[in-house]
Amino acid sequence: MLGVNDVADLVRSVGFRCRECGACCRRVAEDSNLVLVSPAEVRAIMAATDMAWDEVAEPYPDFIDDGSGGEYTLAWCIRRTADACIFLRDGRCSVYAHRPWICRTYPFMLVDDDLQVSECPGLGTPLLPGDAHDAAADLCRRQAAEAAEEAALDAVYRNAAVPPGKRVVIDSEGMKVLDG
Ligand code: SF4
Repeated sequence: MLGVNDVADLVRSVGFRCRECGACCRRVAEDSNLVLVSPAEVRAIMAATDMAWDEVAEPYPDFIDDGSGGEYTLAWCIRRTADACIFLRDGRCSVYAHRPWICRTYPFMLVDDDLQVSECPGLGTPLLPGDAHDAAADLCRRQAAEAAEEAALDAVYRNAAVPPGKRVVIDSEGMKVLDG
């Protein structure tokens, strides 16, 4: 696994500065603004906003048939309107201090030792070493958080039994049966 300094070098070689255009929060193509969130991230936003779980998050849209009449999906996403994240207000993130890792580290993502880069108008702008280090530290923290989340989800998934005819979300906290 790469260290923070290695990641900082990679980030600097790409270059980036957020232009605050909000494009990553808007739906510019099918599911372009799908932001996966962990249960802990949902709860942090709930605590900050006094919103209910279902107001903050929606199930990841791809459901899997479990073979006995039930369906499950394995993630939550930030709830969206027809064209944007519900927390985008007047072009700004209204939960900025509590935004999920995906938003915090966009347009970068670490996959093993590979820095993956998503489309963004801010790419290519030179970064100061300190800013690159901060971005790299966040990317490493995100990678560790996602690994812990994946391990916890795997433990739940191995013991999950979807009730017949129900749609559920299986996450690291357990199984949540959806209404309707
Ligand atoms: S949570 Fe904030 S940063 Fe993330 S997609 Fe929504 S508005 Fe954008």
